[in-house]
Amino acid sequence: MTSQATPQPYGGPDFAPKGRDFQAAMRAKLRTAGLRPTRQRLTLVALLFANGDCHVTAETLHARSKQARPPISLATVYNALNQFTEAGLLREIAVQGSRTWYDTNTGPHYHFLLENEEDLLDIPPEAVGVLGLPQPPEGMEIISADLIIRVRKIDPRR
Ligand SMILES: [Zn+2]
Repeated sequence: MTSQATPQPYGGPDFAPKGRDFQAAMRAKLRTAGLRPTRQRLTLVALLFANGDCHVTAETLHARSKQARPPISLATVYNALNQFTEAGLLREIAVQGSRTWYDTNTGPHYHFLLENEEDLLDIPPEAVGVLGLPQPPEGMEIISADLIIRVRKIDPRR
């Protein structure tokens, strides 16, 4: 990931479906994941995947969907995010004491959490080195390991 990590805010010309190929790709993405490509799911999946990888919360995705007609409720956005996650299209990132984030990049990587700005930035796995993982409890296996590094702007007056 480069510094283009800031997702484009929706609302401008980007909101328009990006041509027939893009729509077809989004439809196929949903079908491959075993989800019926309803109008609302198509709108949300297009918002998520139109501009490369991004991190969203239900609230930020809902805000981006404001131009959709008919409007999409926050509850529908929550449901869709859960369905997309279960279907493997998104990765859920549970940030303690914060909202749940969803990541379109489901591959292995870690995150910086920007304090006060409420944003996540990707950390490539090779930047972290090998995590020494503990043995899982008896009879259990490790599914995944998340690493969230909280950062804040340095106060120049200190
Ligand atoms: Zn990420």
